[in-house]
Amino acid sequence: MSEKYLVIGETRDGSLRNVTFEAIAAARKINSDAEIVGVVCGDEDLSEQAKEMIYYGADKVITIKHDNLKTYTSEGFGQAIMTIINEENPAGIVMGHTSIGKDLTPKLASKLGTGLISDAVDIETGNGKVEFIRPIYSGKAFERKITTSGLTFVTIRPNNIPSLERDEARSGDVTTKEIDITDIRTIVKEVIRKASEGVDLSEANVIVAGGRGVKSEEGFKPLQELADVLGGAVGASRGACDAEYCDYSLQIGQTGKVVTPDLYIAVGISGAIQHLAGMSNSKVIVAINKDPEANIFNVADYGIVGDLFEVIPVLIEEIKKI
Ligand code: FAD
Repeated sequence: MSEKYLVIGETRDGSLRNVTFEAIAAARKINSDAEIVGVVCGDEDLSEQAKEMIYYGADKVITIKHDNLKTYTSEGFGQAIMTIINEENPAGIVMGHTSIGKDLTPKLASKLGTGLISDAVDIETGNGKVEFIRPIYSGKAFERKITTSGLTFVTIRPNNIPSLERDEARSGDVTTKEIDITDIRTIVKEVIRKASEGVDLSEANVIVAGGRGVKSEEGFKPLQELADVLGGAVGASRGACDAEYCDYSLQIGQTGKVVTPDLYIAVGISGAIQHLAGMSNSKVIVAINKDPEANIFNVADYGIVGDLFEVIPVLIEEIKKI
């Protein structure tokens, strides 16, 4: 095995986020012969999570357990990952383009004086080159990037690079590393979740997003029901968040979350450019709007011109029949 790639795993409520498995697949895409070393941090036993990373394609996994790694802080995780980078000397480091990935990778890359390719949605290899494809100008265009030397940090956008098939027959070393994590100046005392429990918006395959047209907090209930029958999550435009119909943690767009689900249903959303920036790369877009001139129809694959309060109950009823 020529090169080594580190994949930084991310957990939520003790389980690995899907983007971790996608990051393993991304590392394999970069170099199919590389040794993939997973790293996962926390304050509890992480052997189950380590095994999952192996089932999804990691060759070995290093777990780092420390009280100061209970919740993410850039200082704590930064010290832990930096120690592993120094010991393993990888050719590259891959992780999800999540809140943690966006915070941690630039910090480490700048400390090491090396480059970072962020928010990659695809990776192409050929003629000895590895090209990273990433959206620019709020998703209106794509650029191809290469690294010319040094350690490469890459973050990948969730839901774009399919993970490898889970294979319980795979085996690999799991080692637990003792690292003294000191001088933590920030402590997370409590995490208050405002978003609904259920499917994680940034990793959902189906999103039903509501806008100002939904008109009230109550108006979001049928959207939640539609999301539930489709096994998806509810999102929102900033218009809906500003109007206090829902929490800002649901906001999708330029100043909210960037999502790429298989199916995005925009309900009562006009399609402002700042909203499109967060969802226009969804695989299939369905728009429901009573205004046939609404800009959202310009990016939609399917459009329903009608009153959302009439259309949504019919959709729920029909989908339940399937
Ligand atoms: P509106 O534009 O008011 O649209 C409501 C839509 O609902 C209309 O098209 C209407 O026809 C339709 N409608 C009304 N009633 C019904 C009904 N009964 N049935 C069917 N359709 C109906 N916006 C974001 O979303 N995300 C961002 O991250 C974001 N960031 C921003 C950053 C900056 C710097 C700025 C300046 C703006 C940002 N915005 C963002 C705001 C953005 O410009 C729009 O104001 C916002 O997206 C509008 O939200 P909306 O589509 O829900 O509301």
